[in-house]
Amino acid sequence: MFNFKQYFNLVILFLVIGLILGITNPVISQQKLTAYVSFYPLYDTANKIGGNQININLVIPNGAEAHSYKPSPQKIAQLEKADIFFYNGVGLEPWANKAVQNLKQSNVETVNVSQNIDLIPLASQHNAKDNHGQYDPHIWLDPVNMKKIAKLMTKRFSKLDPKHKEVYKQNFDQYARKIDKLHHKYKTTLTNNQQEYILVSHAAFGYLTNRYGLKQIAVTGIEPHEKPSPKALTHLIKEANKHDLNYIFMETLSSPRTVNVLAQEANLEILTLNTIAGLTKTEQKNNKDYFSLMRDNLNNLKKAVKTK
Ligand SMILES: [Zn+2]
Repeated sequence: MFNFKQYFNLVILFLVIGLILGITNPVISQQKLTAYVSFYPLYDTANKIGGNQININLVIPNGAEAHSYKPSPQKIAQLEKADIFFYNGVGLEPWANKAVQNLKQSNVETVNVSQNIDLIPLASQHNAKDNHGQYDPHIWLDPVNMKKIAKLMTKRFSKLDPKHKEVYKQNFDQYARKIDKLHHKYKTTLTNNQQEYILVSHAAFGYLTNRYGLKQIAVTGIEPHEKPSPKALTHLIKEANKHDLNYIFMETLSSPRTVNVLAQEANLEILTLNTIAGLTKTEQKNNKDYFSLMRDNLNNLKKAVKTK
């Protein structure tokens, strides 16, 4: 049997061994990995998968409009401190392609999260700008895609930090349960709809509408800051009447002017449909996340597609 003194000596011995290993082996001295993600939905997911083990940093700040944001050279330089960088990769971040080339030379791992996702080609009507690639970038608005992204993050975190593999796996399992539940809720809510079309302020909901059997009519193209011509507005009013629309969806981080004009001209009620590309101050204060905002979206969608 140990007496107190033997026990005490043993504790000291382990402390000394720990100290020596800690000094000589940097892996054992708990240094957290640093991950950068380009925009909010990836930030939310990265935190849910690796948040306690990994420092997660956001490049496009909350409150900024994701499509038009350009990081400063200083911000781009910060990325070089990262162990790993996750980005959308479908033209949401035109600045990312060049950044990724540089990061590869600095041995920062870069992960294009759209790699396992069935991308939707941009229809010609979206008037996609040349630098925006040929696919719709709004992959995160389909929960099925978010599950794939979470799985990809889990894999990459586990590879970089195998010591916490089990933690990442457990976090993924929890994430998967939540996202499956969200998907199920969307699927069961958006059935037997009276209305197939939704009128949205910018063409951000292609993945969501495709997944749940709806069709989007967009006031502007793939970028929220484009301004429709008077001719395009007239066409939209006609569309709204043709499809018996009662609602128009507005998003939280873009200008409401055109939406207000349309609402008045076509006698539409305005509802919010959040692109979740970034959080507003109020959403941050109210502890909103991807899941709660997607549930808010579903409540408003339900209103619009259940009445005609
Ligand atoms: Zn968008």
